[in-house]
Amino acid sequence: MINVAIDGPAGAGKSTIARKAAAELGFIYIDTGALYRTVGLAALRAGKDIKSPAEVESVLTDELCVELRFENGEQRMYLNGEDVSEKIRTPEASMAASAVSAVPAVRAYLFDLQKKLARENNCIMDGRDIGTVVLPDAKVKIFLTASPEARAERRYKELCEKGMSVDFEDVLADINKRDYDDSHRAIAPLKQAEDAVLCDTSNIGLEESIELIINIIKENI
Ligand code: C5P
Repeated sequence: MINVAIDGPAGAGKSTIARKAAAELGFIYIDTGALYRTVGLAALRAGKDIKSPAEVESVLTDELCVELRFENGEQRMYLNGEDVSEKIRTPEASMAASAVSAVPAVRAYLFDLQKKLARENNCIMDGRDIGTVVLPDAKVKIFLTASPEARAERRYKELCEKGMSVDFEDVLADINKRDYDDSHRAIAPLKQAEDAVLCDTSNIGLEESIELIINIIKENI
């Protein structure tokens, strides 16, 4: 199977670009952030203190069922049989995902699931540690990034278009905090794999970024 790993910080456009590239290549697209979000939601629903690793770990029982299904080619997330694909996108679920992702037992719990998906499918998998930890032998590795300002600008515009009233400085501060947390945690921190191709999209638009990534993948598979 051909596996492509795309890692990078929040807001670099990984999911949009990876989804388009996967459709073009006939691969499946796997968003691993959604797995952490689903475990985060499970912890919140169980009333756990997400800041306590022991409490988070206590959610990982035999009763917990985190499933990734494909419906019409799109990834959907199921938590104990319920479709939570939209519910994992709230700011609370984002915070919870970030907190639970620093717990080693959570990463171990999701590791096998990610490996199995990659073994069975030609896929583009995006996340933070795909090229470094989950798929160190991926055929193509891309580290997709953009300056914090460029990412905050895109996120700010997106929120404004949704009619939300937000302050640019707050959006930028959020991006900086998540970058810091993701790259400084003890386990599987966000970092570029040595053999990954670095793509900085600070000064190029979405269409151009998609074309760039598709070309890199096609040249390397
Ligand atoms: O990509 P997304 O923003 O949906 O990911 C949610 C959170 O899950 C991230 O902030 C990150 O802390 C965590 N994550 C991770 N490893 C991955 C994917 C996501 O730690 N492979």
